Amino acid sequence: MKVLKFGGTSVGSAARMKEVAKLICDGQQKIVVLSAMSGTTNNLVEISDYLYKNNLAGGLERINMLEQKYNDVIEELYSTTEYKSQAGLLLKSHFDYLRSFSKSIFTLFEEKAILAEGELLSTAIFQLYLQETGENSVMLPALEFMRIDKNGEPDTAYIAKNLALQLESMPDKMIYITQGFICKNIYGEIDNLQRGGSDYSASLIGAAVLADEIQIWTDIDGMHNNDPRFVEGTKPVPVLHFEEAAELAYFGAKILHPTCILPAKLNNIPVRLLNTMDPTAAGTLISTKKISKKIEAVAAKDGITAIKIKSGRMLLAHGFLRKVFEIFESYQTPIDLVTTSEVGVSVSIDNVKRLDEIVNDLKKFGTVTVDKDMVIICVVGDMPYENIGFQAKVVNALKDIPVRMVSYGGSNYNISFLIKAEDKKRSLNALSEALFN
Ligand code: ASP
Ligand code: MG
Repeated sequence: MKVLKFGGTSVGSAARMKEVAKLICDGQQKIVVLSAMSGTTNNLVEISDYLYKNNLAGGLERINMLEQKYNDVIEELYSTTEYKSQAGLLLKSHFDYLRSFSKSIFTLFEEKAILAEGELLSTAIFQLYLQETGENSVMLPALEFMRIDKNGEPDTAYIAKNLALQLESMPDKMIYITQGFICKNIYGEIDNLQRGGSDYSASLIGAAVLADEIQIWTDIDGMHNNDPRFVEGTKPVPVLHFEEAAELAYFGAKILHPTCILPAKLNNIPVRLLNTMDPTAAGTLISTKKISKKIEAVAAKDGITAIKIKSGRMLLAHGFLRKVFEIFESYQTPIDLVTTSEVGVSVSIDNVKRLDEIVNDLKKFGTVTVDKDMVIICVVGDMPYENIGFQAKVVNALKDIPVRMVSYGGSNYNISFLIKAEDKKRSLNALSEALFN
């Protein structure tokens, strides 16, 4: 069995939905995970915001606008009046449900129920379309099997068991349509896997059914070897190791949600990134591929802050780093890069909500310097240290750029640099020039 996930733009209009239907109806059994139609989740966030602020008129106006958009979609999607009116009733029930929130108190619980409507709508409309076209498909409700535990982490045992039960209860179907992103929590409430979480859903489902392959369909032909918004002539990378893809997804390649790699990697299920606009393009295959000894790609992560703590007390002392890291832990702030010397340590963070408190606490241990507006440049490839020359090549490419931190050795798959935001474009281009041309 394969699991195919289609993102918001891939199901972003009636025309796109028809293309997706063509792609998936090939006589092979599969699970199809859909995102909300593009823009919808943002609209639902906005609606929730009005309702939080108790601006009921504002909320209702947005709900009605969204409803109009969906009415246009169904008008174009279905060809028979029978299905158009069935879809009309379906929309009405969803939008009446959304409107009902304007009459209740509004909390995080209500917001999560509202956010779930995006995927519930896209899948309902799409399944009805497959029904109209006579496909042997069925709805596989994510809320019946997708669950997170008390820490907000997917409960993989529960997911595998309940997904299997669902599939057994509807055998002999060719296409199972399910919602990405949404789940229930430990209290049985509607919840979600965080924004962009549909990729994660697909990967968790793939792992649960031990799929042959997980396909993530978007509107770009795979992971590119550099950021096409800043560098001309980037190319898709045909094969990546799970570790390489994880670094790229985390450090900037927007095409794949970083959480998506782990369930696939743990179960050794290949992930293929494909393009709905160009379905025959090779895309990117992520797996435990053989050694390539090559630098594959470059990515950049914006909005980074570097913090340096320098102290004579660190010299020959033990426990210093622990104390420093504990401060970040106590403010629930994850660290991306770390570089150390005998008398100091630099770390980078991307969440600055608690920065002032962190800096204040760090001052107990040494002199603290903060650099804002930095960017992590991440060079990814198969780079064990015995494989000489790649470090020199990468460093040499950046010879004209002021580099604030350099990190290598945490894994064989990446070298990271911290630079100023203003040097980002120049750095990405210099690296492409030196590594891929
Ligand atoms: N619809 C959700 C979002 O926009 C999940 C997803 O698309 O992956 O964040
Ligand atoms: Mg996405």
